[in-house]
Amino acid sequence: MKAYKDLSKEELLTLQKQLNKEYEEAKAKELKLDMSRGKPAASQLDMEMDFMNVLNADSIFKTEAGVDCRNYGIMDGIPEARKLIGDVLGVSADNVIVFGNASLNIMYDTVARSEIFGVMGETPWCKLDKVKFLCPVPGYDRHFAITEQFGIEMINVPMTEDGPDMDMVEELVNTDPAVKGIWCVPKYSNPQGYTYSDETVKRFAALKPAAKDFRIYWDNAYVIHDLYEEKKDTLLDIISECEKAGNPDMVYEFCSTSKVTFPGSGIAALAASKANLDFIKKFMTIQTIGYDKVNQLRHVRYFKDAEGMKAHMMKHAAILRPKFEAVFHVLESELNGLGIGSWTEPKGGYFISFDALEGCAKKIVEKCKEAGVVLTGAGATYPYKKDPKDSNIRLAPSFPTPEELAMATDLFVLCVKIVSVEKLLK
Ligand code: PLP
Repeated sequence: MKAYKDLSKEELLTLQKQLNKEYEEAKAKELKLDMSRGKPAASQLDMEMDFMNVLNADSIFKTEAGVDCRNYGIMDGIPEARKLIGDVLGVSADNVIVFGNASLNIMYDTVARSEIFGVMGETPWCKLDKVKFLCPVPGYDRHFAITEQFGIEMINVPMTEDGPDMDMVEELVNTDPAVKGIWCVPKYSNPQGYTYSDETVKRFAALKPAAKDFRIYWDNAYVIHDLYEEKKDTLLDIISECEKAGNPDMVYEFCSTSKVTFPGSGIAALAASKANLDFIKKFMTIQTIGYDKVNQLRHVRYFKDAEGMKAHMMKHAAILRPKFEAVFHVLESELNGLGIGSWTEPKGGYFISFDALEGCAKKIVEKCKEAGVVLTGAGATYPYKKDPKDSNIRLAPSFPTPEELAMATDLFVLCVKIVSVEKLLK
């Protein structure tokens, strides 16, 4: 098949007729499919039901040190849960606090605390004229929603396959004291599925921020979410790299078991330097007496250790892999060589990123919706929901069944073709 840009006007008009006919036929099927959010499928959740059986009325609810998890106490998480998470992240349990059920909540509280009380003795952000965050794009909509809600100015930093454009990051962080943070999803990034290279991690660790209270918001949401046993991406540990570079306090690392056990009912954690954790704990003692230790204990008993958790992730991979591959297959066979879109092929995480011709993303998403396939809103992957090129679309293959996914992706590529032809005919 020729690239669309090489087709004559007549050829494009003929193609348009045929595509529109296919679209009407697809619409008649009255599809109701959702490829919008990165939720595990019911089959993944069904696989977890033994998790509910590891603790029951006959269980002993005590930690190894004999603390009763049914009662108040241990605000920063039971030691064995801190060790479990520490081992997953490759950091010491001393650098970990286990919180409640969601990492997004910890991120929100971290920004809110910095706004209200400041970071380790620095001026609270709410008293400053301007606070800025760097936002690698495309990125995670809910990160951007937090900084938007607090009126923090968000600056787009383009992503590359190795991570954010580090020349730009260094230039902005090292010279502008208003830059207080950067949102990062360093492994299997949302939505592109890129993993930061060793060089990128080392350049992050070696930053010389103009603001003392600048922090890297390292959201390691997909740390063990590989699709393949043999070809996993690897990521350097930012905490030890920052220590080595003489910047031990510069990073907050977040993670959770939302896509390991049950989203909304997992455990979430923050890893950081002891100085950061001590500062944060002063505020936590006012906020809570403690989080859900029963759930922490349940996680520890279910997985036993980090290796147990990683092995378990391969069961999720067995369900997710064919779905990702089904999408790759349809994109490859239907769009390759047409010059109307490019996409990523991640080896883990929950998303695929698609770039359409400029000015086409919104129309493609609308057209899919009209025919019963819901995609993440175009623009959602950018701060303020403004994709300057209107070209990025996030595909989330996890939730539908493989059959539904094949139908949804067929419709998606059809809509990409229709909208691209329209653009080329203008
Ligand atoms: N961080 C990223 C990058 C995500 O993609 C998601 C969910 O999609 C989350 C955080 C949400 O995590 P949690 O359920 O722990 O709040």
